[in-house]
Amino acid sequence: MKDTLTYEELKAAVHAAYDACKGLTGGQNAHYIPYLANVDSSLFGISACMPDGRMISVGDTNYKLGIESVSKVPTAILVMRQLGADALLEKIGADATGLPFNSVFAILLENDHPSTPLVNAGAVTACSLVEPKGSADQKWKAIVSNMTDLMGSEPELIDELYQSESSTNFQNRSIAWLLKQYGRIYDDPEMSLDLYTRQCSMGVTADQLAIMAATICADGTNPKTGKQVFAPELAPKVTSLMATVGFYQHSGDWLYTTGLPAKTGVGGAVIGVMPGQFGICAFSPPLDDAGNSVKAQAALKHIMEGLKLNIFSR
Ligand code: GLN
Repeated sequence: MKDTLTYEELKAAVHAAYDACKGLTGGQNAHYIPYLANVDSSLFGISACMPDGRMISVGDTNYKLGIESVSKVPTAILVMRQLGADALLEKIGADATGLPFNSVFAILLENDHPSTPLVNAGAVTACSLVEPKGSADQKWKAIVSNMTDLMGSEPELIDELYQSESSTNFQNRSIAWLLKQYGRIYDDPEMSLDLYTRQCSMGVTADQLAIMAATICADGTNPKTGKQVFAPELAPKVTSLMATVGFYQHSGDWLYTTGLPAKTGVGGAVIGVMPGQFGICAFSPPLDDAGNSVKAQAALKHIMEGLKLNIFSR
């Protein structure tokens, strides 16, 4: 791996990827959440942040996008901050499912664990684990303040998205109650599901998500605020979760192709973490069949190839 990636090299790679990918078509907005179905499909942005806080932003990096499943990363971090890495492994797991993000089948196959906090089942369990137990308000405060620490600025709930998801999340409701049946929900199931739905409805920008990714890349220190948000030894745990299941049933293909631990959301964002080098977010709403942004994937692949970086290479 190149050990001295320069700002200029990263900047050139980000701009080259933006130019190469901006005309790409293909995919469609998340259709099962009405709010997301109506977001402008032409939005496209890339934002990168280095451990020293320098940023590169091109395109629509100030648009408030729905964070969706990218929110599973900060809440997994919160559970590790509050309860430790071992508790996350014991109560949720850190395994790939090889199945879609909202798979009920994955829970049935592995009924002793929800597999990983980065699919819907494990993320609802993670919300149930957040301290302090029993208080939706206090738990929500902890979730928001953790995201704020990681991004260096506050997310903002998109109420219309929250209403849209809450009125259509029947599959997630089934997941919450199935997990309850298996003893894998550690607080009230409806409250845990609602916290999950609300955290998915957070509005954030690609710039904010790039800073979050850079905080992970910098071993838990936010490059903008200088705050040590989580213990350095948690950083490889977070990155390994992302690498294992960040693209659901396409996770292996993604890692094989790009060598970039990354996590997607159906709002169209993908965050990537190159430990010690940079955090990045690419964003574009149209998705492939697994719910991963088509253009964001193409852009990040372009960047990794351009920089000749790969987490598995020296
Ligand atoms: N809120 C969405 C859901 O639960 C998140 C899914 C995703 O981004 N992959 O279906």
